[in-house]
Amino acid sequence: MKQVTAAVIEKDGKILIAQRKAGDTLAGKWEFPGGKIEPGETPEACLRRELMEEFGVDTKIGEFICASKFEYKHMPIELLAYRAEHLSGEFKLNDHDRIEWVAPADLVKYDFCSADIPVVELLLAAPFSTGEKLIMPPGMKEALAAREKQRALADNDPLCPACKTPMVLRIAQSGPDAGAKFWGCRNYPQCRATIKA
Ligand SMILES: [Zn+2]
Repeated sequence: MKQVTAAVIEKDGKILIAQRKAGDTLAGKWEFPGGKIEPGETPEACLRRELMEEFGVDTKIGEFICASKFEYKHMPIELLAYRAEHLSGEFKLNDHDRIEWVAPADLVKYDFCSADIPVVELLLAAPFSTGEKLIMPPGMKEALAAREKQRALADNDPLCPACKTPMVLRIAQSGPDAGAKFWGCRNYPQCRATIKA
């Protein structure tokens, strides 16, 4: 399975999203920018390189957010999403048709690539550095959950033993297993169930 990286760059309470170029696969869809990991490259190094190539900006790659697997018709991928900080450089569009800085609550208005949707969902559930929190429109959470469950069941992601919802692949940030992947409940921190990946 091809591994790709994606950056969630937040500035002044807004998040950068980019629209795929006409002629590309998934043209017109929105994504968190990033790209394919080259052999021997760490996800962080890949992401920093891709953001330099795609926009001409230097970034500092931060906290891991989540992994999302998706079977696109053209190739199955595992998307690894990280937070990133914009350090320097004006954004140039080398590889995208548009970029937009979007308030968290407006993320739901964009047509995202399928692999990016779980990232959007996790971002909406997580607190933002501005203290903002999204109030989802009625029915949206259920619709996202149903779509994600369908995808996860097709992918054989394990169900949380307590909540019976598909779990999310995460990477341990600290402790003796730092760097190791594990399955965590998406209802964290209310549910702390984990399964070894
Ligand atoms: Zn659970």
